[in-house]
Amino acid sequence: MTDRPIIGISASLIQETTGPFLGINRVGAAHEYSEAVRQSGGVPVILPVCSDRATALAQTQLIDGLLLTGGADVSTLAYGEEPQPLLQATQPERDYFEATLLDGAIARELPVLGICRGLQMLNVFFGGTLYQDLSDRKSELVLQHRQSNHPTLGSHHVEVAANSHLATIVGTTSLLVNSFHHQAIKDKGIGLKLVAHSADGIVEAVEQPNYPFMVGVQWHPEMLAAAHEPAAQHLFSAFVAAAQNHR
Ligand code: MN
Repeated sequence: MTDRPIIGISASLIQETTGPFLGINRVGAAHEYSEAVRQSGGVPVILPVCSDRATALAQTQLIDGLLLTGGADVSTLAYGEEPQPLLQATQPERDYFEATLLDGAIARELPVLGICRGLQMLNVFFGGTLYQDLSDRKSELVLQHRQSNHPTLGSHHVEVAANSHLATIVGTTSLLVNSFHHQAIKDKGIGLKLVAHSADGIVEAVEQPNYPFMVGVQWHPEMLAAAHEPAAQHLFSAFVAAAQNHR
């Protein structure tokens, strides 16, 4: 048995669009997630989407930390809204799976890191809502949140609340982050603290203060960590260290 912390990485359903396996779902996640965990001393394992609650809860018994990854839009049914025109394809089976992983992880007080969709799942899990598309949000200042540049490059800044766990982790209150989202937090989930915003007021990070380690970020630190960006590396190191402590 390893002494290193086991980090469960939630998988996406990735549908084959051509060939004999047309329509078949594969489960997987960008290699950068597992690499970022490995480089921080964790042992990454991919958690395939499981449609029954008992199996998903059993998965959470095997891990020391839970990483919720990016991916498809969360179903509007999960936060009590009807779908609007700019909603993209959803995967309700994955939403249910990840909510169950959160149930299991929280019952064990496992460290949780949510990335992009993972932040949005955290918000919905705690009863919050999402802008189905950023154009739904009326703001005087509009930034580009779907950058064209490579994900290892930062594009917009976020201001991190000085009194937040995240600021302690990254050691600064101003971060240059990448951005690949068309949705964002609208109404905040119960208990969550909004700890980073972009200049146009979009929520870029959350924490659950009444919990040992629960951080969600709207950007993709796994891609920045691949480019050795210090703040992203610090975030993964802190997450894996919390998982090590829990072990
Ligand atoms: Mn953004």
